[in-house]
Order: sequence, then C-alpha cells, then structure tokens
Amino acid sequence: MKARYGYIGRMLFVNLSDGITRTEDLSEDLAKAFIGGYGIGSRIIYSRMKAGVDPLGPENIFALGTGPLTLAGTLSTCRFTAMGKSPLTGYWGDANSGGNFAIALKASGYDLVFFEGKAEHPVYLVITNGKPEIKDARNLWGLDPARTEEMIREENPGWDYKIVSIGIAGEKRVRLAAVINDKGRAAARSGLGAVMGSKNLKAVACYGYQRPGIFDKERVKRLVASITSDMQNTPGPMLGVLLHGGTASAMTPHFLDHDVPIKNWAGNNVEDFPREKWEKVGWESLEKYAAERYACVDCQIACGGWMRVDTGKYAVKRAHKPEYESLAVFGPNLLNDNTESLIYANELCNSYGLDTIGVGGTIALAFDCYESGILTNKDTGGLELKWGNADAVIELIHKIARREGIGDVLAEGAKIAAEKFGGGAEQLAIHVGGQLIPMHDPRRAAGWGAVYVSDPSPATHTRGGTQFAETGMANPDIWEPLGVPIHMDKYNPEGKGKYQAIMSGWQHLMNCSGVCIFAADGLNFRWIELMEAITGWDLNVENLKRTGQRIGTMLHLFNLREGFKLSDFTMPERARGNPPLTAGPIKGVTLDFEDLKRQYFEAMGFDFAAGKFRKERLEALGLQDIA
Ligand code: SF4
Repeated sequence: MKARYGYIGRMLFVNLSDGITRTEDLSEDLAKAFIGGYGIGSRIIYSRMKAGVDPLGPENIFALGTGPLTLAGTLSTCRFTAMGKSPLTGYWGDANSGGNFAIALKASGYDLVFFEGKAEHPVYLVITNGKPEIKDARNLWGLDPARTEEMIREENPGWDYKIVSIGIAGEKRVRLAAVINDKGRAAARSGLGAVMGSKNLKAVACYGYQRPGIFDKERVKRLVASITSDMQNTPGPMLGVLLHGGTASAMTPHFLDHDVPIKNWAGNNVEDFPREKWEKVGWESLEKYAAERYACVDCQIACGGWMRVDTGKYAVKRAHKPEYESLAVFGPNLLNDNTESLIYANELCNSYGLDTIGVGGTIALAFDCYESGILTNKDTGGLELKWGNADAVIELIHKIARREGIGDVLAEGAKIAAEKFGGGAEQLAIHVGGQLIPMHDPRRAAGWGAVYVSDPSPATHTRGGTQFAETGMANPDIWEPLGVPIHMDKYNPEGKGKYQAIMSGWQHLMNCSGVCIFAADGLNFRWIELMEAITGWDLNVENLKRTGQRIGTMLHLFNLREGFKLSDFTMPERARGNPPLTAGPIKGVTLDFEDLKRQYFEAMGFDFAAGKFRKERLEALGLQDIA
C-alpha cells in the first residue's frame, strides 16, 4: 500500500546518462520501517547500487530526501538530507541542511529523488508540481550557488523555486564540497557536493503545491500550540543560547570546559588560546556585524542571520552568520582571533560550496605541516602557513576550491593530503576514516568520540550518543522514557555502549523525520505524538527503538558490503589525548575509544569473530533479506 499520511507517497528516479525519469510509489511498509531521509534513502540505494563503485563515478547514486514531518504543519521541520557513497570515506555519506528547500522538494510531488548515471554536459533538474525536466546548465557552470539560484529563477519565471546547487568546489570534485541551498546554507559533510559535480548535476530546483495527507490535523494543531507555549513560557538552556545569537553564542560556554579544539587539537585554551581571545571568536564580537536575523521555514527559534562587514580586507556586503563549528575551525583551531576573517572565510566557503569543518581541519593540517617543516614555502607557493595567519587561511580556501597549487592536494581532504605529504603528516591529520572531526572535543565528553568512530558516516556531530548525559544537556523528557540515564560520568565507559545504541537510534529517527536537531533537543517537541497525529501509526517507545536501530544497522550494512572493518574508523592519537594536554580543563586526559566502539557494536548485535551482524539481530529488525 502506498504511504498516505505524512508522505506524498512518490519517489523520483533520474537517470542522468539517458535523461529518463521515472516515478515509483513509496510504500507504507517502507516508510514505517525506515521513516524517511537517509533511512529510506539508504534502503533504496543499497538495493539498487552495486558494491565497490567509485563514489565519483556514474554508478554512485546520489539522493535528496525529506521526512514525514516535512510540510506537515509542524514547526522547525525544515531539514532535507543529501546522501550517497562518500568520496571522503568511501563508505556511507549523508548530510542535512535547513532553510526552505525541504518543503519545496516535497511540495513538488516527491518524498525523495534519486540520481544515477552522469549527464553528458552540465544540467539541472527542475521539478514543477510533479513534472520533472532536465535542463541545460552549461551557462551556470562556474557560478556560485547564490548566482546559480538567481539565474535558475530568471530562466524559469512565474514560480518561486527553491534550489540546491553546487559551487566551483563541487564542479571540480573537491572531496570537501558541500550541497548548498538558500544561497549559503549547507548540507556540508561527506563530500556530497563532489558527487553532484561528478554527475554534471549543477542544481535541483523545486516548486509545487502538493501536500501530504495528515491523519489528524486538529491534533497536530493542538500539539504545535502546546510546543510553542512551552517554548515561550519555559525555554530550556539550549533554547536560551539559540535565541540569543544562534550557535555562535555557545562559543564561550564551550571554551569553559574545553569543547573547542585549539591549534589542530594539540593546544589548550589556557596557554595557546587564552581567555582574552575567546570573545573575539564568539557572538560577543560577531554581534556588531549582525544585519538581520532569519529563520528556516516554520521555525520560531530563528537562529540564523545575515552579517555585514563594511570596510577592510575582509569586507563583505551580505554573509550568513557563521555557526559555532565554522568559527571554531577557522578560529581557535588555527589560532586565528581575527573576527572579520571568520565571517569572510565562512562566506567564502558558502560561495565556493565547501564544508567549513572539512576545509578548516584540512587547512589546520597544512599549517601544522608548515610549522613542523614537513611543508616549505616551495610547497605552498610562498604562502606562510603560520598559526594565526588569517590571510593564509583565506588564500588556502581559494586554492582548495579552485584546486590551485597546494590546494589541489588539500582538496582531496586531510587523509589523502597527509599521505601525499609524508614525513609524519599522517599524525597531524585529525580525521576519522577521511572525514575531518567536528568541533566537539571527545576528550571533554567521551560520548562524542564514541559517535565519531562508530557511526557509519564517521566524525559527525549530528548523531546521537551519550555525550549530552555527560555534559548535563540531556533532555529528561526524551531520555527517561527511552530508559537512558540523564547523567553519566564522562570518563567511566562502563555500560555506555547500550545507551549509545539507543540514543543513536533515536537521533536517526529525528534526522530521518526532517526535524531540526535544535528543536528536537531544545524544545519539548513531542515527536512521538506528532508522528502519530501525522501518520496515523500506533507508535511506542519499544518499536521506535527498533526502528531507529534498524536505520543505523542499514547504514552499517551498506558499509560492510563495501568491505568495512571496525579498524577503518579510529580516533587520531591527538584527539584521544595521546600525548595528553599539559594545561587547561582537559589536562592529562587520555581515552580509549576502541572500547566504547566495541561496546556499541556489541549492543547493536555485531558478531566480532564473523565480522557481521548476528542473524537473530537482523531478523529482529526485519533485515534478514539483506543479511
Ligand atoms: S533552530 Fe535554527 S537551524 Fe533549526 S530550524 Fe530553527 S532556524 Fe533553522
């Protein structure tokens, strides 16, 4: 039976090689088992893509997906997922972004759209109320995403298309390339912009007025009113930060317990980036550049914003407000405290279509190699890659996006670049499986590290684990019904694997349903009740735990078919505290993430001797056919 409530019930398949598009129904069974986004997407891609394909070859399948909460009359449910085999890791890759694109994709008549093959020349896909059309994009090739959006709207007048596109970085298959929407919001991780580029797919533009069925509209309205009232009357601590200046407001609190990596993870926030510099890279200094606040569609938190720098070498007329991750990676991680350069670097990445975390982490590798003599002026074309050199950061972003000079090597990401540099550079590349580690220090909360090394899309900060219970951020309304303690000792690993398995599954549900992580964690969001009201399904905590873990297991199965071994995702020595820091809040901390990873896989039903999931476990999840 076709999925009715919460879904349009249709998926679009586009073969870019022959230009043929076709539609398939999305069944209720598939929707219920995998929810949406990368849940449904991974199940489809697994069954239709061969193992071992080149992530940048025509056989990789790239997809965009929404969830059942998208366009369902709720709030903060704006996320779409980009997905496919990652050119950074060689395994499963996904990334999500907010803004306005998700609702446009669904309103255009499809819950998900899949792309296979490669177009002969640059093209873009336009979907207008259920009608897909592949159009010539040769005139758009080389344009940044903001201009691409404008041009597509000019070429297709009369409809308010929402658009995802790639910039020059994706066109040049930079492995750190992002998928960009709304002129600078990014589905950044996993290098999926390069996958679009490899297919000659410049953009996807969507418009329509189709709507999913809603099982009980009145109940949805009552729930939304109640969530809104709770938000206004009793905002929790996470909401307070977001309402203030967005994630940039979290910088100082993150410094206090050393969540912010310093000097490519080798420094500390007492000697290397002391307190007097903290505010220079946070909202306290950014606020004066704020021009306008904005929100993703149907979100009252409005954590986004536009900024403007009027004068100086980093002047920029209109720039998205940098997120915490971008500020940290271009700031303290490079010992750069030039506020204006951070706004500029962030916007430059948006206009090239680059992942700020990946690019900043890769630049940190280059700086570290230069400072330690592995790279010289001859290698850098005369650029002095000295800690804190903001001009060099900006220049390297240009070079990476355009694959110029040393940028051509760095465009491959830190793992490949370090292998090419040699001379011990591998020790300075802070990645898991090729993906640069996000800006939450696992030495400060081990749960982050456990997630980085065990998630099928590694080194990702949008996945669940025990970290919030280790840092006092766990929302009891979510955690207690799941049977997970809201307080955990950050450095005592005992028994954590089973809790990580539950919380990672829960986060898969959130991500795949389309809700923003900040709303899901920061509001009294009532996800289960909303899902019941929208889909008409009878849900309970136990069957949802199974669904979440089914999604996680599906992603693991994808990786295992690609030849994944647990040793492929390991924590870099520095990031686990070897050698330990000599000062600051995490002085002396050294952690063993292999134990946490094993605990998690054990809880997920993995048979270490056989290197695969146990048959009984797969049967319990309804995945026996795949086994
Ligand atoms: S909280 Fe921020 S990122 Fe999330 S939906 Fe709202 S505006 Fe968008």
